[in-house]
Amino acid sequence: MAPSLPVIELDVAVVGGGIAGLWLINRLRGAGYDSALLETKALGGVQSMASQGMIHGGVKYGLGGNLGAAAQALAEMPARWRDCLGGQGEVDLSQTHQFSEPFCLWSNGGLGARMQAMLASRALRGRAHRLSGRDRPAALDHPDFQGTVYRLSDLVLDMPSLAANLAANAEGALLRPEGLVANRNQSGHISLTLQTKDGPIQVQARQVIFTAGRGNADLLSQLGQTEPAMQTRPLQQLMVQHPQLKPLFGHCLGKGTRPRMTVSSHQADDGDWVWYLGGELAEAGAQEPTAPFIARGRAELKSLFPWLDWHQAHWDTFTVDRAEPRQVDGQRPDGASLQRAPGCTNLLVGWPTKLTLAPHLADLALEALHRAGVQPSGSSMFRDLSGLLPTPPLAKAPWQCAFKEPA
Ligand SMILES: Cc1cc2nc3c(=O)[nH]c(=O)nc-3n(C[C@H](O)[C@H](O)[C@H](O)COP(=O)(O)OP(=O)(O)OC[C@H]3O[C@@H](n4cnc5c(N)ncnc54)[C@H](O)[C@@H]3O)c2cc1C
Repeated sequence: MAPSLPVIELDVAVVGGGIAGLWLINRLRGAGYDSALLETKALGGVQSMASQGMIHGGVKYGLGGNLGAAAQALAEMPARWRDCLGGQGEVDLSQTHQFSEPFCLWSNGGLGARMQAMLASRALRGRAHRLSGRDRPAALDHPDFQGTVYRLSDLVLDMPSLAANLAANAEGALLRPEGLVANRNQSGHISLTLQTKDGPIQVQARQVIFTAGRGNADLLSQLGQTEPAMQTRPLQQLMVQHPQLKPLFGHCLGKGTRPRMTVSSHQADDGDWVWYLGGELAEAGAQEPTAPFIARGRAELKSLFPWLDWHQAHWDTFTVDRAEPRQVDGQRPDGASLQRAPGCTNLLVGWPTKLTLAPHLADLALEALHRAGVQPSGSSMFRDLSGLLPTPPLAKAPWQCAFKEPA
């Protein structure tokens, strides 16, 4: 008979250390669950570290005239995150850096009448304020800028500091195996086998939760599962570093109701600002080869900021897939998703679908544990597991790894 593997027994095992897994392990530990987060690469994840850090209340969906489910799920989120940043929320984010510049919505021309009416509407009351002259961000404070600027009440966070803060809160529960395999026994119970430098270890948990982003589909396929099904939406983000750039955060609106470009700003090691650009630009250019994509982005920036001398700029791009639960016709999901995997007795699979909604995903997980009768065992609330396996390092953001080649 083969010798049995060493076993770690847990109330809950969380697989994947992006925002979803990090937020969840914070909540689980806070609720007294004997739990661990298993991450094979780096904490802060893939999509999370590549995100623009915008904690938004859904105003951009309202601009499309759609204050439906997506906007409603988001509306309460900025206040919840603010409580956490102030050290009074469900998770302590007092060490997370929040950018102090305003989160804006702007258009280089006038905003259409319909858009103005929407921004002034009762539904968005108090969430968007028109900024005049000197109240505008410095990046838009130029005589050649003839547009309209609104300040949104939402917030933007520095992702590396958010990941570091969530990881520090959960010290002792963050484990980095060299490999991880999910197994199912005949009665549908899921266990995990971790590869370590000293040989395999088994994890037996009363509940296993996959929060592995795009990796959820691979983990499910190890179990012969295709449900819950996933969809991916590819993006190509543009990065530009320029000594004249000033920090800018928000959505630039074009003729349509969706942002023509979404801008966040991050400081490079030499102190210069990097603009990290998403929105329609990144969606439409997802499959474009790098050189024409950069040329298109550069032309777009030149038309939006003609007063900047773009010759001095350095350019780079970053491709990444958004991973979400599959929707009819590949549409954007409305909220966070947590689903049971059919035929598996103790497996839940989650996608937050937005950074902003990570707290909602954790709510869903705690409710599901409660419904399944998985209560904290209470025996070893803050068991330090760090002696068993190394702690995963922190991931780097795209702008921290960019501009290595001469422009
Ligand atoms: C370019 C971009 C910009 C965005 N901007 C915003 C924004 O401004 N605001 C907003 O609200 N949302 C934004 N989003 C959406 C948001 O970033 C994602 O919804 C969210 O980060 C997903 O988090 P996650 O933890 O599920 O996945 P991820 O961050 O992708 O993390 C998954 C983790 O699982 C790990 N993993 C995978 N497989 C395994 C395995 N087998 N074993 C162990 N670990 C595994 C990975 O290594 C990774 O660390 C953006 C997304 C993108 C791509």
